[in-house]
Amino acid sequence: MNKFEQLGLNESLLLAIKDLGFESPSEVQEKAIPLLLEKDTDIVALAQTGTGKTAAFGFPLIQKINPENRDTQALILSPTRELCLQITNEIKLYSKYIKGLNTVAIYGGASITEQASHIRRGAQIIVATPGRMQDMINRNMVNIKNINYCILDEADEMLNMGFYEDITAILSDTPKEKSTWLFSATMPQEVARIAKDFMRKPLEITVGHKNSGNENVSHEFYLVSARDRYAALKRLADANPDIFSVIFCRTKRDTQAVAEKLIEDGYSAAALHGDLSQAQRDGVMKSFRGRQIQMLVATDVAARGIDVDDITHVINYQLPDEVETYTHRSGRTGRAGKSGTSLVIITKSELRKISQIERIIKMKFEEKPIPSGIEICQIQLFHLANRIKDVEVDHEIDAYLPAIEEVLKDIPKEELIKKMVSVEFNRFINYYKKSSDLSSDGGTRRESGTIPTDGAVRFFINIGSRDNFDWMTLKDFLKETLDLGRDDVFKVDVKEGFSFFNTDASLAPKVMEVLNAFSLQGRKINVEISKNEGGGGNSRRRDHNGRGGERRSGGGGGFRGERSSRDGRSGGKDRRSGGDRKFEVRKSGDGERRGRRNEGGDSNGFFDKAKRSRRS
Ligand code: ADP
Ligand code: MG
Repeated sequence: MNKFEQLGLNESLLLAIKDLGFESPSEVQEKAIPLLLEKDTDIVALAQTGTGKTAAFGFPLIQKINPENRDTQALILSPTRELCLQITNEIKLYSKYIKGLNTVAIYGGASITEQASHIRRGAQIIVATPGRMQDMINRNMVNIKNINYCILDEADEMLNMGFYEDITAILSDTPKEKSTWLFSATMPQEVARIAKDFMRKPLEITVGHKNSGNENVSHEFYLVSARDRYAALKRLADANPDIFSVIFCRTKRDTQAVAEKLIEDGYSAAALHGDLSQAQRDGVMKSFRGRQIQMLVATDVAARGIDVDDITHVINYQLPDEVETYTHRSGRTGRAGKSGTSLVIITKSELRKISQIERIIKMKFEEKPIPSGIEICQIQLFHLANRIKDVEVDHEIDAYLPAIEEVLKDIPKEELIKKMVSVEFNRFINYYKKSSDLSSDGGTRRESGTIPTDGAVRFFINIGSRDNFDWMTLKDFLKETLDLGRDDVFKVDVKEGFSFFNTDASLAPKVMEVLNAFSLQGRKINVEISKNEGGGGNSRRRDHNGRGGERRSGGGGGFRGERSSRDGRSGGKDRRSGGDRKFEVRKSGDGERRGRRNEGGDSNGFFDKAKRSRRS
């Protein structure tokens, strides 16, 4: 028996679930669905974003609706137009095998008369934003006096956005005899107040810890001088070729300026803020979802509705004025069991905000240096090489091959490879050749060079997550192969086809000699010195918060959030195709969140567990 069947769902839902590609229920679904199917009760369900809450209320709701009766039977309130449309979409997918069931979305910024006419044609389920709903109630365009179910989705966000009055007004227009289902990621005071004032003995379901941050998200900060903010952003993007991110700025003006600058510099970026028309905003979101945009620069308000899976990085170009807002920002990544990284570009004077945020999210930040030009060039070079290796050839070009061969015929293979790579790579080399490294005081750190004799040395090695390493296992492998002690290898950063690690300079000759003579499953290992990590910049940097020890211990060096692993290879293709990507990615079994973080038995690691069991 299928896991969803065990929850008590009926045949038409099971069919739809099969079409969606959901293999087993998430934790919140497992807990909520049987409860809601069994009896009519109020419920408060707390689960982080991306844990599948829509289906947790959507499935039982659909099963309980009577499709033969055309009256409005359920109201789902959601904070933004974006979410409202998304929920409507999902509900329609879930109920596609149920004849006569109509779901209608109601939201601001679109024709109210058109929405009213949809409702007149019969809508058993209405999904609405509070503002527009109030409006339509006042104009007698909807009748929710007989509904059986009222769902408050993302209740914390709704209240955060100041919808308390609207919500209470709407609720007072609904019958007393109904069930209220409240879904929320966190349980701030106002949510508790709604539960107390408007719900009857609600059952409570909690997945994960109340009010805690998402464990799939790791947090990092980069200390720079204020004038280097933009250069730092550029480097962070360049060091993550597969980045798919939301970049937060404080003001509309900065948002627009940063986006324009990124576009000018050749990135696929766009701005999202309140000065854009609704149509413009829709256009931007459509391109972002379709992956034509890799970096979306947004204000906090405009980004509220963004509910896109697979965002790899949230970048805090500036920290928000209110530290509480940080949780909402970082919650844009690490959805649906995927891992994500929230990066903060910060200046010295803002440093104390980091510990304030740490208290709120109950997680520690890791301080990282802005990647050096050389490191970025290496990353880009290998990314490019892998892209060439993995690209699917369209045989349309076969016809032109003879002519192309004629042009290239005198170039030896080695030379040809160099030239091909240079076509794209020169722009990085040219940029980074000229730029010095960034540090908190804007000073120049030592550039790389010959084998250094003191300090730490950073190595590049041509094995990575593709070879099934994560930072723990690579570190172990290096220690064993080189016969080194516990703390001799540190700052291990595993990328897809290659990695970086540090050792003390005194070990450098041994590292080079032993590893370069080593083969892993028939493949020759190649190690190169990436740069000299010793000297001023780094140690000075460490003084700011005295976490030097932590960073050096290796534990902090783990590279977690990177999505470039595995499915990054198909990334190029996905990016253009858009389409079915959401489920493709889910099925591909990409083991992003590998290593230790899996084993903690964290409560919302459900999607991940499903993946792991499929693989084994
Ligand atoms: P939340 O509302 O908790 O933030 P969503 O309901 O938006 O999360 O779900 C996040 C993503 O996970 C969506 O893309 C959804 O289609 C997907 N999803 C939900 N339930 C499952 C499941 N049981 N198996 C696989 N994917 C799921
Ligand atoms: Mg949701």
